[in-house]
Amino acid sequence: MTSHLIIGLNVAGIAAMKAIREIEPGGRIVAVSAEAQLPYSRVLLPRYLGGKTTPESMLLEPAEFYEVRGTRVFWGRRVVSLDAAQRRAVLDDGETIDFDRALIAAGARPTVPRDLAGPGVTGLRTGEDAAFIRERVRGGARVAIAGGGPVGVKTACALAELGVRPALIVASGRILSQIADNEAAFLAQRCLEQRGVEVRLGADIVRAVRGPGGLEGLELGDGAALPCGLLVVCKGVTPNVAGLPPAVQGRSGVAVDDTMATRVPGLYAAGDVAEARDLLDGQPRVTAIFPGAAAQGRIAGKNMAGATAVFEGSIPRNALDLPGLPLISIGRVGAPLDARHAVRVTRTTGSYRKLVYRDGLLIGALLVGEVMDAGLLQACIRRNLAGLLAAGEPGQLMGEAG
Ligand SMILES: Cc1cc2nc3c(=O)[nH]c(=O)nc-3n(C[C@H](O)[C@H](O)[C@H](O)COP(=O)(O)OP(=O)(O)OC[C@H]3O[C@@H](n4cnc5c(N)ncnc54)[C@H](O)[C@@H]3O)c2cc1C
Repeated sequence: MTSHLIIGLNVAGIAAMKAIREIEPGGRIVAVSAEAQLPYSRVLLPRYLGGKTTPESMLLEPAEFYEVRGTRVFWGRRVVSLDAAQRRAVLDDGETIDFDRALIAAGARPTVPRDLAGPGVTGLRTGEDAAFIRERVRGGARVAIAGGGPVGVKTACALAELGVRPALIVASGRILSQIADNEAAFLAQRCLEQRGVEVRLGADIVRAVRGPGGLEGLELGDGAALPCGLLVVCKGVTPNVAGLPPAVQGRSGVAVDDTMATRVPGLYAAGDVAEARDLLDGQPRVTAIFPGAAAQGRIAGKNMAGATAVFEGSIPRNALDLPGLPLISIGRVGAPLDARHAVRVTRTTGSYRKLVYRDGLLIGALLVGEVMDAGLLQACIRRNLAGLLAAGEPGQLMGEAG
C-alpha cells in the first residue's frame, strides 16, 4: 500500500485526501496542517469578520472526516524540509515522516511589503487574522486597507458591516482593476462609499508611522497623512515554498505539469502554492481561487493513487457579494478590441452586464446586479477557452480589465 503525505490541509489537501480514499480505500494518508483548528473556508472570512457567520459554519469537513482509519493528521505542525531523494519530510519539532508520494498543498500567505510589516499591520488569511482585526476594531482602532482587489473590497465591506469607516487605499485608478472595467468598478465603488468606506484611488503608501503605542498612521505618496491604528494589507499572495527542494520551484510557486506532478518524481503540488495551466493563455500561473485549488487537489490525489487524470486549466473567476450589488467576473473581461473580438453590454436599472466574444465565442462575462446565469456562462466560457487553447489560439492575458 502506498504511503501518501499531504503538506497543508485546506481546499487542495482535502480534495486530494478524498480522491486518494476513493481510489485506495483504507490507504495510508498522513497530513501535516500548520493550523491547529479544523480546516475552514477562507472564502467566508470576510463574513466572519463582519459578524455574519460563526467558525463552526465555516468548516470544510466535520471532525469525523479526519478520523477515518488509515488517516493521521498532525495538527498545528509544519513541514520544515522535504528530502526528495530519501522521500522524507521533517517537521518543526524534528519528527520525520517517510512517504512514497507527497502533495505540496501549503497554499499562500498575504504579500506584505517588508517596509510596512510590523505591529498593527496584518493580512486577512486566517481565522486568527480575522480575530485580530475584530479585536483591534473593538478597541477603537481606525482602519486602513491597502489594495483594491477582491479581498480588499470584501474586507472593507465587512468592516463597514461592523460600523467602522475604513479607508481603502488603491494604487490604480479604480478598484477591482484586474477583474472589472471602469463602469463595473464605479458601481462597486459607489456601493462601498454609500456604506461609509473612504476610497482613495491612485494612492500609494510610502511609510508606516509608528510611535510608542504601535501604528499611528500612514504617509501617502502625495504627502498626505492618514491616521490609523490598523493596516490590513490585501495586495495579493505569496506561495508557501519555504523548505521545499529547489528543483520543484517555479517562478513564484511550485511548477507542475497537467497531472499536477512537480519536476521531482513522487512530489505533486496543488492549490494556491502551484503554478498550474491558466486557460486564458495556456501559461502556468498561480490563480489562487477556491475552485481551482479543489480541482487541482482532486487531480493530484487521483494521480498519486495511481489513476490517470489531467487538469484542463484554470479560468479566472471572482465573485463579490457587495450589499445589494452582486458582482461576478469570469474569464477575459478586458479583451483588446481587435476585429476578432466583440463586446455586448446590457444595462438595466440596477444591473450592468458585459459579455466578451472572440470569433463569436463567449470568452468572458462581467455581471453586476444580475448574476443568476453566471454558472451557465462560466461553463460556456471554460469550454470555449479550452477549445481555443487546444486549437493553438490562446487569448492574450488581460492586464487591467479596461
Ligand atoms: C479573505 C479571503 C477571501 C477569499 N475569497 C474567495 C472567493 O470568494 N472565491 C474564491 O474562489 N477564492 C477565494 N479565496 C481564495 C481561496 O480561499 C484559496 O484559493 C484557497 O483557500 C486555496 O486553498 P489551498 O488549499 O491551496 O491553500 P490554503 O487555503 O492557503 O491552505 C494551505 C494550508 O497549508 C498550511 N501550511 C503552509 N505551509 C505549511 C507547512 N510547511 N506544513 C504544513 N502546513 C502548511 C497553511 O497554514 C494552510 O492551512 C479567498 C481567500 C481569502 C484569504
